[in-house]
Amino acid sequence: MKKIEHLGIAVKDLKVSNELFSKLLGTAPYKEEKVASEGVATSFFQCGETKVELLEATNPDSPIAKFINKKGEGIHHIAFEVDDINAEMQRLEKEGFVLINKVPKRGADNKMVCFLHPKSTNSVLIELCQEISE
Ligand code: ZN
Repeated sequence: MKKIEHLGIAVKDLKVSNELFSKLLGTAPYKEEKVASEGVATSFFQCGETKVELLEATNPDSPIAKFINKKGEGIHHIAFEVDDINAEMQRLEKEGFVLINKVPKRGADNKMVCFLHPKSTNSVLIELCQEISE
């Protein structure tokens, strides 16, 4: 694991939260992106070395909709940057962590991602992400 690449925050209204976080961080989002397969609309803020990702559900079956129904808005996941996502997934599975997806999938912000099940990580949803090299 190289560093915390971003923090994911579940929000009810991306537009409202974009304004809030623009004020908080003193900068506008550098990117907004929908990930249809995950049912989310995202925006990204750069904050020094790391980023803040806001996530809004785009349909009622979205994992973000379920999260907000259960827990309300707030920190949804922590994403760690890795050099070799496949190797890291193998290593973590051997260590007993439960992978939510068995193969990396395409996430937002030009990344291949994999999530670890919170039941194996003290209830913290962990994302591994690796930049896609063009
Ligand atoms: Zn993320």
